[in-house]
Amino acid sequence: MVNRMRHNRSQRGSTRSHHGLKGIALTKCPDCSATVKRHQVCSNCGKYRGKVVINLEKKTKKTKTTKTSKKSEKKTEAK
Ligand SMILES: [Zn+2]
Repeated sequence: MVNRMRHNRSQRGSTRSHHGLKGIALTKCPDCSATVKRHQVCSNCGKYRGKVVINLEKKTKKTKTTKTSKKSEKKTEAK
């Protein structure tokens, strides 16, 4: 970089005035009115644009059963 290309403080500052981060765009889910990131599936009801994408009822049931079975196994081993 040659010295003639150097910017002064105000030029540098005016350039950097546009470098700030913007907040995340949030909207409300039309079905359950939870706050959701734009263009993403609702984590509360698993819907995107009115359609069910993720069946959350099935997922929660699976995780619950696995957790309980692991705990019961540990208990039986200790005894
Ligand atoms: Zn929702």
